[in-house]
Amino acid sequence: MSDQDSFKKIIAHAKEYGFVFPSSEIYDGLGAVYDYGPNGSVLKRNIKDYWWRAMVQLHTDIVGLDAAIFMHPKTWKASGHVDAFNDPLIDNKDSKKRYRADVLVEDHMEKYRTKIEKEVAKGRKRFGESFDEAQFLATNPNVKRNQDKINEITTGLQNTLGKGDLAGLRQLIEDLGIADPETGSKDWTDVRQFNLMFDTKLGSVAGDAATIYLRPETAQGIFVNFLNVLNTSRQRVPFGIAQIGKAFRNEIVARQFIFRMREFEQMEMQFFVRPGTQKEWYETWKERRMNWHRVLGFRESDLRWHNHDNLAHYADAAVDVEYRFPFGFKELEGIHSRTDFDLGRHQELSGKKLQYFDPELDKSYVPYVVETSIGCDRTFLAVLCHAFEEEDLGDGKSRTVLKIPPALAPTQVAVFPLVRKDGLPKAALKVFNDLRFEFSCAYEEKDSIGKRYRRQDAIGTPYCITVDHDTLSDNTVTIRERDAMTQERIPVDRVREIVRERVDMNRLLERMG
Ligand code: ATP
Repeated sequence: MSDQDSFKKIIAHAKEYGFVFPSSEIYDGLGAVYDYGPNGSVLKRNIKDYWWRAMVQLHTDIVGLDAAIFMHPKTWKASGHVDAFNDPLIDNKDSKKRYRADVLVEDHMEKYRTKIEKEVAKGRKRFGESFDEAQFLATNPNVKRNQDKINEITTGLQNTLGKGDLAGLRQLIEDLGIADPETGSKDWTDVRQFNLMFDTKLGSVAGDAATIYLRPETAQGIFVNFLNVLNTSRQRVPFGIAQIGKAFRNEIVARQFIFRMREFEQMEMQFFVRPGTQKEWYETWKERRMNWHRVLGFRESDLRWHNHDNLAHYADAAVDVEYRFPFGFKELEGIHSRTDFDLGRHQELSGKKLQYFDPELDKSYVPYVVETSIGCDRTFLAVLCHAFEEEDLGDGKSRTVLKIPPALAPTQVAVFPLVRKDGLPKAALKVFNDLRFEFSCAYEEKDSIGKRYRRQDAIGTPYCITVDHDTLSDNTVTIRERDAMTQERIPVDRVREIVRERVDMNRLLERMG
């Protein structure tokens, strides 16, 4: 099955089992806007909970915030979004399809990266144990040729994007012979800038003065509250402010399900540090964030770093954590060293001092900021892609299972009576009623036990408890584990403790150290 086919299956599965629906579907949907269904909304809450607890609960030097979506319009002037939150767009004249010009070039560059990966895989196979990847990358002529090409394109992108040279970017696309990925046509329009912010009107006043924006990132809500938090919490620099919330971008190309949406949710943390220490904090946060992804259970081979060659004007370092989605490695999270740009700009436009008096240095300064910014929806998609499996069980049997980390699963434990008679439902409901205070539970008595297991597999329920005739005499039940499909007999009075040990999010947090 190709990656594209498996992605289609994941999207269909997400809809069929109540994870993600197209928005306003009865009206044929709305481009790149999605709703989370009964299972999806719980999974999403659990992802947010995992992030929030890893940030705010585990770090005594991080506090939370929940700022409004609407902000004073000057916020976006200060942040640079009014003037520069643009994407360069290009249309293909034949297919009438619209693309982000920089993404077309980056996707083209990705082909050379894939070639390098293939060379490395071949090398590893050929040299076995003695394979030295670093040496191979430095000396193999095919790798070198592809790397030279990547460097050349990177320079081209930097030179054009950095200077806002749209004609140059158009020329780069032509020089590289980039064709419309869907039709192969190379007949392109000029490149134009397109601002991604949605605007609306505040109150009943007409005219430009009342124009406000739906925030395109949550970060600015944190910056404008820097002093409020500093003055009302017991935090001292270095410290961080974490926030989860909706953000809105009028994305030009939004074709990859919930990967790129026009309304989405971000989980952002801005860490305020003493100027000059930002490099160390940047490295610290890189390490901590990668650890968060690993603990979540993503395979090492599905995660990678991608250093930004094109640094935004306010950043002195930036890197993405990329995840291997079925459509290739793409950004999941950004870690940015944003200098004092944001606080400095807000200080300038608001006329309010946004500084910290550092008693150790005996002076005031505008703190520098290291930001970690991750999309909740992209994390959701990564969890879903990682979890989705179609397993061949032999004898012509198969099952579709979502191997979601137990702590995140929408239903953590399902309870079944083996049959709907002989007092088994009553005994099963007793178990269920005890568990539901602590876990998200399901109770089912319809259909054969095999069918009930399959249904729970398909939504990622990690444990199923079955009450059978033996339960009535020896007070034990079976607990069936989703991934290995193994069954164990355990005493009824230990069910709660055993389930807790296996599904508790605290276990994940403890592994973060
Ligand atoms: P991209 O290059 O993919 O457009 P970006 O670099 O503009 O992303 P940031 O501004 O760094 O993204 O936003 C931080 C995070 O927010 C991203 O890593 C991503 O997970 C998430 N995100 C950004 N745009 C979207 C979107 N349109 N839909 C869903 N998630 C998004």
